[in-house]
Amino acid sequence: MSFFEIIDPAFGKFVMGNAPVKQLATGFDWVEGPVWFGDANCLLFSDIPNNRIMRWTPGTGISIFREPSNFSNGHTRDRQGRLVSCEHGGRRVTRTELDGSITVIADSFDGKRLNSPNDVVVKSDGSIWFTDPHYGIMTNYEGFQAEQELPCNLYRVDPQNGEMQVMVGDGNCPNGLAFSPDESLLYMADTGRMFSDDPQHIRVFDVSETSLSGGDVFHVIAPGCADGMRLDIDGNLWSSAADGVHCIAPEGHLMGKILVPEVVSNICFGGRGLHQLFITATTSVYAVSLNRAGISPTG
Ligand code: MG
Repeated sequence: MSFFEIIDPAFGKFVMGNAPVKQLATGFDWVEGPVWFGDANCLLFSDIPNNRIMRWTPGTGISIFREPSNFSNGHTRDRQGRLVSCEHGGRRVTRTELDGSITVIADSFDGKRLNSPNDVVVKSDGSIWFTDPHYGIMTNYEGFQAEQELPCNLYRVDPQNGEMQVMVGDGNCPNGLAFSPDESLLYMADTGRMFSDDPQHIRVFDVSETSLSGGDVFHVIAPGCADGMRLDIDGNLWSSAADGVHCIAPEGHLMGKILVPEVVSNICFGGRGLHQLFITATTSVYAVSLNRAGISPTG
């Protein structure tokens, strides 16, 4: 069997025929939010329903990084290398300082509680951008069931004064987020309400320092949805899908797929030279080596 589906011949140069899609660990319930720590040579990811953050280290394997995790979901690192996390249970975004203490970045807007922050990116200016759909308060499975107080927005937290600003307020359920390599574009997935006919697509925005424009539909992932996305150094977008990971060209067409036997939730580049793609997929974590390098804030 092949691990890859080549649609655009250019995708054939991105993958290597003898590089397997390898299962690194399994037995979780719903994994998400992978983030690579090159300096510590490990991958962190959330096992959301089990309320913990796991750590995978090459050669050593799996250990628990944090439990309970406040039902954490998406993670990233800021330019100082600190872990920035979305928590369904805490209904907040936090930063883990280098001494291990936790700083709350955002937990309310306009005097109302956030829903359940889902995915987060940090821009090179230090601003923190995150999505706040209601998935984590719909049931007690991935957080604590509660009434929604705010629309499902995309927010930006100012690096100087910590003020929050709604950057996208006309989405349905904003989810995965990623900047292009030069940060001139922001990709935002909208994954709609579960078990509905809501459109599920990736929108693209032009970015200026504190505002967005545009917002047209860039690509529609099928089957499945763009729960999580990352860019490579040439601006190709790699997205989760129900049948694996899809690679989308900057012009918006599907170039090819990495086939994964479970529904994929999220991805991140890591490993030596950021040539590895780590894939969180339902109960398991997979990795594949690529002839591509990803972008990562801190490597
Ligand atoms: Mg997500």
